[in-house]
Amino acid sequence: MGAGCTGGYEVKYIDEFQDPELARRLLDDIHAIVTRPWALMEVCGGQTHSIIRHGIDQLLPDGIELIHGPGCPVCVTPLEVIDKALEIASRKDVIFCSYGDMLRVPGTGRDLFQVRSEGGDVRVVYSPLDALRIAQQHPERQVVFFGIGFETTAPPNAMTVHQAKKLGIGNFSLLVSHVRVPPAIEAIMQSESCRVQGFLAAGHVCSVMGTGEYPPLAERFRVPIVVTGFEPLDVLEGVRRAVRQLERGEHTVDNAYARVVPPEGNPAAKAMLADIFEVTDRAWRGIGVIPGSGWRLAERYREFDAEHRFSVTGIDTREPVECRSGEVLQGLIKPHECEAFGTTCTPRTPLGATMVSSEGACAAYYLYRRLGTTSGAVIPSGTATMAARTSGSAGSTSEPAPLEGSPVV
Ligand code: SF4
Repeated sequence: MGAGCTGGYEVKYIDEFQDPELARRLLDDIHAIVTRPWALMEVCGGQTHSIIRHGIDQLLPDGIELIHGPGCPVCVTPLEVIDKALEIASRKDVIFCSYGDMLRVPGTGRDLFQVRSEGGDVRVVYSPLDALRIAQQHPERQVVFFGIGFETTAPPNAMTVHQAKKLGIGNFSLLVSHVRVPPAIEAIMQSESCRVQGFLAAGHVCSVMGTGEYPPLAERFRVPIVVTGFEPLDVLEGVRRAVRQLERGEHTVDNAYARVVPPEGNPAAKAMLADIFEVTDRAWRGIGVIPGSGWRLAERYREFDAEHRFSVTGIDTREPVECRSGEVLQGLIKPHECEAFGTTCTPRTPLGATMVSSEGACAAYYLYRRLGTTSGAVIPSGTATMAARTSGSAGSTSEPAPLEGSPVV
């Protein structure tokens, strides 16, 4: 990682982006700027985890609220697509490949782990190219890769379809549920219940797509949008720049993650996306259909579309009535305000995807906080926080319970 500039403080190595002294100086800057309450949304689940893990929200001035956004790819994959995955993975002729996080995401009544325990050939892979390799090794079987996620994970999936076509691997297909951030920001701002006054945009998404899609949104909704990274100092710098704009009455796009995000993004990845995918309306779990918010395979690659290949129909989806993840994903409630949080819903017995995913807000609150639930139960404490370190208290050093599966970004 190259040298970066965080609030005028030069840092070079990753652990310096967690330095409590630099964090204290950034916090002092934020406290000096703020004159009134502001509500900011961090778009990405990775940022949410950094905020909760390090206690950043507890260090900000009173009245600065961080609303957790819908940027967790596992969480927003619609139930109907999960149920289609379960149907396809149950077929005898199929090897179903997925990142590990998806195996515990509840569909209607079961998950991919259960399909595997019932004899389905469900395999955890770390790249879509692993799935393509499996397809080459097993020409007699159909190999399906579960292609979910934001603009960050779409390019390798697009590249894999490109390779499959080039190599003539006809037994490979992709179950696609890709989503795009800018239409989600638009939908959030158009919601009647929206309280968001500024955004911390997801840095890794912008490293692919650049920043060009955001100025029209900042202008139309008169909100500052600050491209922000994931380490504690990155988040604090994003907050500092967003609050500074709000206090000045400004609403521009500001790149606070320039060490990773060039304004134009990654032209090669964008060209690959434009070739393989086309924009489509997409349902977000717990939120509903957002126009133009997804990608599907373009017509000329339809032969690699698992939905097209397996024609899975007759899906009858049922969400658990007690799960309020839709409200969590829209920032309308905090996870511990859900009655099931920490009682009937835990990472080991998740009712919703936001408790499963390594980027889900419910999992973050469960792993890193000691919070009384609405039913009076108390959940375990998490790791030592930056809040503890900057305030000089010992904090907890107990390790959080690990989530199973590999991270999906
Ligand atoms: S705590 Fe569990 S039941 Fe409640 S919203 Fe989160 S995932 Fe759903």
